[in-house]
Amino acid sequence: MTADSPASPFDPHQQNNPPDLDHKIVAALERLTGVFRHLLWEEATQRGLSPLQLQVLVFLRFHPAGQCTASYLAREYHVSRATISDAVKALTQKTLVSRHPDPADQRSHFLALTPAGAQLAEQTSRFAEPLIRPVASLPARQKLSLYLNLFTLLHQLQQAGTIPVQRMCFTCRHYGRQPGQHYCHLLDIPLESFRLRLDCPEHEAISW
Ligand code: SF4
Repeated sequence: MTADSPASPFDPHQQNNPPDLDHKIVAALERLTGVFRHLLWEEATQRGLSPLQLQVLVFLRFHPAGQCTASYLAREYHVSRATISDAVKALTQKTLVSRHPDPADQRSHFLALTPAGAQLAEQTSRFAEPLIRPVASLPARQKLSLYLNLFTLLHQLQQAGTIPVQRMCFTCRHYGRQPGQHYCHLLDIPLESFRLRLDCPEHEAISW
């Protein structure tokens, strides 16, 4: 490393001499994404799917039709249209997904799960269970603090353009602040920290 090149969070020396929490946190997040990738890969392989095909099934299972298009999925998973089209084509050939013309735009299609696809999505959507158990065992205060910190981190990454718009409260046009608290003007409810939504079905992105 030259004197003016940035330090790497993956260098144990940078993490520890002197202790550098920023680097340690980034290294820890990288380990966690590795766990996530491994669990996803294991589940997908057992089911004869690619990891992206499995992610598409799970996304279609839990999101409204308006978000179930190839272009939306490409943005969601940071892949090209061609890559997502290949995944959708494979799922269609396996009769797990079907395509339906968008009545508002004949050039576009909505994607939907077939009954077999819905059943498989239901079974495979629990692949992250080994991550849920240790999180669930954390004391409530630590859990809330972890959630808020991750929430803030995702928001900052979105603002920096590193990740696409998240369906979260801080990027929603219905989000507001009232003295001392977050507020949802659509649902007309205060949003205590644990109620802040990361993936909200009612989310409408702020137009900048
Ligand atoms: S609509 Fe959903 S995302 Fe938007 S502020 Fe309300 S709870 Fe949050």
